[in-house]
Amino acid sequence: MSDISMIGLGAMGSALARAQVVAGHSVTVWNRTAEKMEPLAELGAEPADSVAQAVEASPAIMVCVDTYAAANGLLWGDDVMPHLAGRTVIQFGTGTPKEARDSEAWLKECGAAYLDAAIHAYPDSIGAADCRILFCGSRAVFERLEVLLTCLGGDLRYLGENVGTAAALDLAVLSHSLGKYTGLAHGARLCEAEGVGVDHFAALFVEGDRARELAEIVHAGDFTLGAFYDGAPVRVWGKAVERLQSQARDAGMTSELPDFLSRLFKRTVAAGHGEEDIAALIKALRDGDGA
Ligand code: NAP
Repeated sequence: MSDISMIGLGAMGSALARAQVVAGHSVTVWNRTAEKMEPLAELGAEPADSVAQAVEASPAIMVCVDTYAAANGLLWGDDVMPHLAGRTVIQFGTGTPKEARDSEAWLKECGAAYLDAAIHAYPDSIGAADCRILFCGSRAVFERLEVLLTCLGGDLRYLGENVGTAAALDLAVLSHSLGKYTGLAHGARLCEAEGVGVDHFAALFVEGDRARELAEIVHAGDFTLGAFYDGAPVRVWGKAVERLQSQARDAGMTSELPDFLSRLFKRTVAAGHGEEDIAALIKALRDGDGA
């Protein structure tokens, strides 16, 4: 039996699993693409052969895959569901409040507890003092697991029993960030069109401001993720935009802004920039010249 299991070893899931191993917890890991388990196994984590085995291995199961739909697809199988009773699933992927409520409800039917989490940090900040992660769901469950979760960041915030809270606040913050980053890309394009160096634009923002970092990336012309600064690729941000669209549909509110963002992100990914820094949005804006 391990202390905790981690399902999903992308950039974020690997960082979460690594923090658990470094903290001295015994960790079982599973990922669809098996090779991604190797670096964790080298650190001391136990690779599982299947999702069912990863669930069976621990009382607490962290899940961090692209979407809640993907997470549900992994946990909903006849081979997995019988093992969920008495365990706690902690969902770290980006989702909507409705998806969080639905997850809590079906896991309850399986006899499992549920915590919904939202990470406000890039993978390289997991475990750092300023790494903020929001949690909601049963207070008793959070308090029981807190000892295992503290290694993930210095700013863990429990927001109460309304299980949609973390996802709602996460999407609200993402909406703000997306507005800022797309505005930055447009501003940088404007500088280019007017013959003004984007380095001058960058210098108007204080050191450490993500807007400054993005403008510096545009100025350097190297959009490789992590070349200068850590971040999430355009593809992952694009999935967050889809969650904003879903939330708006679920809540019966306008999706005007996410619909606009969705077109821009889809164009950027379709042009082959999905794995680049979000600063690469400027390439779609350049391609749109004259349109
Ligand atoms: P990523 O590097 O692209 O990894 C995606 C993970 O999801 C991989 O483990 C992938 O498995 C798995 N996956 C996708 N579809 C699947 C399916 N149908 N069945 C099984 N596994 C599937 O993305 P990430 O950056 O780790 O992001 C994961 C989640 O964390 C997202 O919801 C994202 O919004 C959230 N998040 C990310 C950041 C960030 O800065 N990266 C920050 C906050 C929140 P394979 O390896 O087999 O492809």
